Amino acid sequence: MLSKLNELEKTFTVQDDTYHESLTIEGISFSGGVGVGEIVLHQPRSWSHFRSSNSTSYERDRLRLAIREMMESIDDMVKDHVTSAHRDPQEILETYKTFAADRGWIKKIQAQIQTGLTAEAAVDAVRRESRDKYAQIGNKYLKGHLADLEDLANRLIAHLTGEDFPQKDLPSDMILIAHQMGPAELLDYDQRNLRGVILEEGIHTSHMAIVARAMGIPVVGRIHNLLLNLKLGQKIIVDGEEGTITLNPDPIQIEEAQKKSLTFSKWKTELKALANLPTETKDGMLIHLQLNAGLMIDLQYIHDSKVEGIGLYRTEIPFMMHSKFPDVEVQAQLYADVLDHAKGKPVVFRTLDLGGDKIVPYMWRVTDENPAMGWRAIRVSLDRPALLKQQLRALIQAASDRDLNVMFPLITTAEEYLRAKKFLNEEMERAKSKSEIMPKNVRVGLMVETPSIVWELDQIASEVDFISLGTNDLFQFFFACDRTNPNLAHRYDVLSLGYLRFLRLILNQAEVYKIPLSVCGEMVRNPLEILALMGIGYRSFSMNVSSIPAIKRLVRNTNLSDFKAYMENALGTSKGSLREGLKKFATENGLLPPHLL
Ligand code: PEP
Ligand code: MG
Repeated sequence: MLSKLNELEKTFTVQDDTYHESLTIEGISFSGGVGVGEIVLHQPRSWSHFRSSNSTSYERDRLRLAIREMMESIDDMVKDHVTSAHRDPQEILETYKTFAADRGWIKKIQAQIQTGLTAEAAVDAVRRESRDKYAQIGNKYLKGHLADLEDLANRLIAHLTGEDFPQKDLPSDMILIAHQMGPAELLDYDQRNLRGVILEEGIHTSHMAIVARAMGIPVVGRIHNLLLNLKLGQKIIVDGEEGTITLNPDPIQIEEAQKKSLTFSKWKTELKALANLPTETKDGMLIHLQLNAGLMIDLQYIHDSKVEGIGLYRTEIPFMMHSKFPDVEVQAQLYADVLDHAKGKPVVFRTLDLGGDKIVPYMWRVTDENPAMGWRAIRVSLDRPALLKQQLRALIQAASDRDLNVMFPLITTAEEYLRAKKFLNEEMERAKSKSEIMPKNVRVGLMVETPSIVWELDQIASEVDFISLGTNDLFQFFFACDRTNPNLAHRYDVLSLGYLRFLRLILNQAEVYKIPLSVCGEMVRNPLEILALMGIGYRSFSMNVSSIPAIKRLVRNTNLSDFKAYMENALGTSKGSLREGLKKFATENGLLPPHLL
């Protein structure tokens, strides 16, 4: 990637102006599909009005009016999408509207007006505040949501200044290029002409990416410094399947891209038809699918696609959105909202997994040399018991008389698990002594994210109700390979013989001790990798919503007994990685289309 960018940079500087030959650059795919079109620069709204005002009441009235207008315009967008086949954008816009109506946000703007700012300047000041706050957060998951806030602030300022949008006279096949973008900004463009989006930044979990995926608009992100180098009107291909863009494509490349685009649309239609069908293999084996969640927006999908519940609720994510440590009351409200949304479907709350790349600005500055192996997750909770106790207290209160599922992250020894569980028991006793309403059923589990705990499961078997494999961490500790280090990105394979044998051993252990086991790491996003897991014997997975349709199709196409026989043989006879063999099996048996291999 870096060398390609250097090449690009060199070409632009050496040739000074226009780049004539075709050039493919790697980025990251945020939404699949393939599009060809002319470059259009997305221009965020700008304003250059007076910053100070001598009438706060006048500015407050302007703000009120602009908010009302903005809400009406979002309402119109929602209505447009009610009639369309795309439910997701409509739901996201509804969520977005709730966000816009957020009293906290509006109150902050009003407070800025009270200091003598114009309404525009007040919106801008609050936006800057959020930018600063998000800048301190290391986690990539949340950074994408800054784009939503920026979008909302831009939209509100445009209503205040009476600016016109969207841009006029755009080409009929266009590829939008932006630094970053929010969901409503995307929907401002005429969808009939939009062939794709390229972002300099962006993140897979942002609302914009969710909307784009739902609407089948290909998006490739993290193409740095592109804006500096492009020429308007230039042709470009966005390949959301490969995560690449191609500048100045030749006619053969264009024809191929168009063919690919057609295949992708057919694929999408096929997946939609599966939404309400059971996740069952050809030979009648039921596979259990749950969702990973961390933001309210993730929860709206719990009643779609027949998912069984939330297999991993990352409680640290909402913590990162607060400017100070949320107290028991705030946490209890949050967890109760999650359970309300789930309407009786089980939710597994993982206790705080802070540290590593998940830092909250109001807590501590860790200077671990090796944060992934440092003071994080359960290690922090056990060393700061007040933190853990408050969280457990809030979870018990939130459950009220409903079921409560608690999971502890990064458990490395049996002793750590027992200590963590003791805190939960103490909090239960405390609630009982205060005659609080008690959860109906409490189930307690742990995440297997380090190999060491696998050899101590016998010590805690009777105390563990379930286990979830966190394959992201487990993989990096199994191979001693920092998952964030680009030099190691393709060095080891999750489908290697050693790792798969290890995963099979974990499953065997869980079976011996009769502990239900599921998998919640990123490995289950990839159809070929989940196929391998099913072949070993795994039956329960928790994943991001976007992975569900393709996985469901895979499950329904698979004859598991045939495949199990293949896997058993492969685990005995293969050398190195099983990936190529699995690809061949999947292709020959029509389990996966070529673009997913
Ligand atoms: C994992 O490690 O696989 C996991 C699910 O936890 P996280 O990605 O939050 O570290
Ligand atoms: Mg983890």
